[in-house]
Amino acid sequence: MYLFEYEAKEVLAAAGIPVPERLALLQPNDPLPQMTQRVMVKAQVLAGGRGKAGLVRRADNEEEFAQAVAAIRAARPDAAVLVEEALEIVEEWYVAMSYDTALRQPVLLWSRQGGVDVESDRAVNRVPVIPNAPSVDAPDDLQPIVEKLIALFFAHDARLIEINPIIKTTDGRLVAADAKITLDDDAAFRHPEWASYPERSVLERAATERERAAREIDSGSQGYRGTASKYIELDGDIAVLFSGGGASITCMDALAAAGGKPANYSEYSGNPPREKVQALTRIALSKPGLRGLWIAGGVANFTDIGETLGAIADVLREVKPSYPIVVRRAGPGADAGQAALEQVATECNLKLRFFGAETPMTETAQVLMDMVKGR
Ligand code: GDP
Ligand code: MN
Repeated sequence: MYLFEYEAKEVLAAAGIPVPERLALLQPNDPLPQMTQRVMVKAQVLAGGRGKAGLVRRADNEEEFAQAVAAIRAARPDAAVLVEEALEIVEEWYVAMSYDTALRQPVLLWSRQGGVDVESDRAVNRVPVIPNAPSVDAPDDLQPIVEKLIALFFAHDARLIEINPIIKTTDGRLVAADAKITLDDDAAFRHPEWASYPERSVLERAATERERAAREIDSGSQGYRGTASKYIELDGDIAVLFSGGGASITCMDALAAAGGKPANYSEYSGNPPREKVQALTRIALSKPGLRGLWIAGGVANFTDIGETLGAIADVLREVKPSYPIVVRRAGPGADAGQAALEQVATECNLKLRFFGAETPMTETAQVLMDMVKGR
């Protein structure tokens, strides 16, 4: 889960890391507070690059303050607005804690060049961190912050805590001007306090009804076996049912390259039971306005393709779509899966084409799009 800046700054403050005086206007119609000093006005969105997008504005007087809030509310009507004391900058630094997947270790990242362009700056120092070790190799002036940051990172089961910039002010303070925190969702069981964070999505909208329904698929007594809960609604008209994370991402690209617009992203994998795949398929096919269905995945090793494609065939028999359907899948039981799909296609007069291991997965996107466009 990603925290909003105003939430992340509460977490930093509680850990003793200095943050600006601040006030979050959570509702779009919350009145502006009395201005007692120069302020920064910042849109609360779960994305970086706000500075460059005009979503971080400084206001030196009442008029600029009203303008800044109005401009940000016009750009992001649903976002909260954070108002905080404007810091007078001497230097902007970068400091973060995360995991390095190549080193397979937690790492401290720091740079004397913080601010809006640090992502493109290769001169960020990378220091492996051993949990509970007495000290870490960081400059003296950053030491106090770094120690608190590392303790916080582990205690809060964070995947990332990034302070960019940490500002050295004209009056000699070090203050976290920005804060990004990503929590490790798998640790939620030992953080009951996380339940009080309001629901959020990186798509910057609330979950749709179908997304909520999909989340329930992996709960229940069969929850441990396989997964079919991943469903993200998008604004295109080609429903997709993909298998495996890597193949799914590759297929999304292939669909876009073939001129298709996905109605959803979804993925099932790990040999899920029939009921889970049926439930996901029902959700994906319930979206109005569909013009095609693409069922694709790699060559499975351990997933029962007869069961999973059989589950999709069950739902096709209920829904009887009139739009074209292309399937590309192979692995154990694929013959049975193909037979189940072709059986329902004959029964219900579906426009369905099936491909196996002999045809590259990504090529079948074009096959579907040609069918959709009637070529
Ligand atoms: P981001 O672009 O989404 O990372 O948003 P930030 O919160 O980091 O703000 C963007 C930039 O605005 C920062 O890199 C700073 O250069 C500047 N900024 C943020 N807070 C302050 C502040 O209190 N005073 C001044 N002068 N600049 C600030
Ligand atoms: Mn920043």
